[in-house]
Amino acid sequence: MTEHTKTDGLPGLEPPLQVLERSRPRHERMAANKIECNACPVLCQISEGKTGACDRYANANGALVRVDPVVLLRRTLGRDDARLVPFAPAGRPADEAMTDGAGSADEALADGEVFVTGIGSSTTYPDYKPAPFIVSTQVDGVDTVTVVTEGIFSYCSMKVKIDTDRFLGPEQANVRCRGEVVGHVSTAEYGSQMLSLGGVHHLTGGSKKEGRVTLEMMLALGNKGPVELTIDGGSQVVVQAGRAPIVNGVEEQRMRVGCGSATVGIFAKQLFGHVDEVVVVDDHITGVLSEHQAGRCLDMKASGIRMRGRKSTPGRYFQVANPGTGWGGTDLVEPLSVIEGWDPAVAWPGLRLLLTSTTGEHAAWYVLDADLVPVEAEMPAAVRAVVQRIGENCEPSLSTVLFLAGAGGSLRAGVTENPVLLTNAIKRAQVNVTLGGAPAYVWPGGGITVMTDVLRMAEGSFGTVPTPAIVAPIEFTLRLDDYRALGGHMDHVRTLEQALRSGAWHHDGAPTARRWAAPLAANPWPLGQGPVLG
Ligand code: SF4
Repeated sequence: MTEHTKTDGLPGLEPPLQVLERSRPRHERMAANKIECNACPVLCQISEGKTGACDRYANANGALVRVDPVVLLRRTLGRDDARLVPFAPAGRPADEAMTDGAGSADEALADGEVFVTGIGSSTTYPDYKPAPFIVSTQVDGVDTVTVVTEGIFSYCSMKVKIDTDRFLGPEQANVRCRGEVVGHVSTAEYGSQMLSLGGVHHLTGGSKKEGRVTLEMMLALGNKGPVELTIDGGSQVVVQAGRAPIVNGVEEQRMRVGCGSATVGIFAKQLFGHVDEVVVVDDHITGVLSEHQAGRCLDMKASGIRMRGRKSTPGRYFQVANPGTGWGGTDLVEPLSVIEGWDPAVAWPGLRLLLTSTTGEHAAWYVLDADLVPVEAEMPAAVRAVVQRIGENCEPSLSTVLFLAGAGGSLRAGVTENPVLLTNAIKRAQVNVTLGGAPAYVWPGGGITVMTDVLRMAEGSFGTVPTPAIVAPIEFTLRLDDYRALGGHMDHVRTLEQALRSGAWHHDGAPTARRWAAPLAANPWPLGQGPVLG
C-alpha cells in the first residue's frame, strides 16, 4: 500500500529559516529610546547611555554594545602596547585600524603571535548563534581556528584548597558567606583543607538571597579578591587566591611538612643521639619516635611512654586530641596532655623528651625528674636546629582557587551545529580548551567539564548575570580541517586580520574595542597545544 502525504497540491517548499540578529521586542510599548539586550535570559531593556543589570552591556547611541574590550594575548608585548584600540567602524580603511601602537599589522599577525581570548568577547546566547569570534590563524604553517566566547555558567563552582593544619570545620559542614550557605567543607588533603563553594544548588536551588550571595562570593574569588567565610561548628577564614589563608584572624604561615608519623621518619636520624623520645603532635597521626619503625631501625631504647589516643600501628596514634587551632591542628594548648604516663619499669629520670608540631611552630623540651614527671627545660641547640629545619621544610601556606565548570551544554552550539562532535573531538585530544588563555584540565567522562586555576587567568576574567550565573571566558583551539569535520560554523570563520580590524562577526552586543595583554609566563602558549585531559 502506498503511503500518501497530505498536501494542498503545492510543491513541498520549506519557507527559508529567518534568523534575526536580535528578536523583536517582547513589549510593543517599549520606549523608543530603549534597547533590549538579549545576551542573557534577563533581557534587560536599556535606556540610551545606560548599562544593563550586569554592567556588561550598554545602549550606546541606540546600539547594544559589550562594554569591556575583548582581550587579546600577544606573545611579545612591548611596554606601550597594552593600550585600548577601537575596532574599525564600517568603511574605515584597514591599514589605519591595524596600526595601533602594537606594531605594524605584519608584526601583529606574525605566525601564532596573537591569541584572541574570550574575555570581553560577548556570548552566544540564546545559544543558536555562532560564537562571536571564530578566528583562523596559522601556527607553524598549520591552519588553526580558535572559537571564542563568554560562557554563561550555572553549573560551576570553586574548589578551594587551604593550606593549613588548623581545624576549619567538620567534613560536610556548611560554609557560609554573610550568613548564607554557599558551600561545604570537603575532604582534608595532605596539609590542606578543601572547600567546595558555589555550585548550581546554591546559585539557583535556595532563596534569592542565597543565590545572590553565592554569585558575589564566586565572582570575588574568581577575580582573585578576598572572601570571608564562616564554617558551621568550625572556624572563620579569609580566603584569597594566591594568598595565605587567615584562620580566626591569624594569618597562616606554614603548611605542615608531613603528618606526625612522616615528620618522625624524616627527622629521626637528625634527632638521634640528642633525644630519648620525640612526640610529633598532629591532628591526623601523632608520631612517637622510639616506637616508630624509624626509631626501631635506629635501635632506639624504649622510653616507657604511654600515649593517649588510638594506636594505629607502632609509633602512630590517631585521635590524641580533638581537632582545633592549637598544636598540630589539634585543640591542644598544653601538649603534655597527649601523654598518659610513663612505665616506671622502663622510663628513667633524666629522659630527654622533645614535643613538636608538624610545622615546628610549636615545640618544647622536657627532662623527666626523679618522679618521672616531665619538667620543661631549655632546648639544646642541636635539637633546636632540627626543629628549625622542620619549619624550613614547610612550604608557605596558600589559598588556591580552582574554577570548575560544566561546558557541556549550549555554548557548544556556538562552536558546531552538532555539539557532541566538539565533546568527542576534545576527548580525542584534537581541541585545546583554555579559559582566558589559561590551560584548563578537562575531566574524564561525559560532557566538557573543565577546571582551571583562577590565578592563571587574566585580571577581571569573571563576570555575572542575574539569572544568577557566572560569566567566564572559554576558547577552543583546533586545526581548521578538524573544525570543518566537526560541523563548525565555517561561514563565520574570519582571519585574525579581519578580527583585529573589525571585531566580532555580529553587531548586536559586540565589543567595540580590543586590548592587548601579555600572556602569563606560567601558562603555555595556548596555540599549538594539546588539551590537558583527565
Ligand atoms: S543582565 Fe546583562 S547580559 Fe543579561 S540582558 Fe541584562 S545587560 Fe544583557
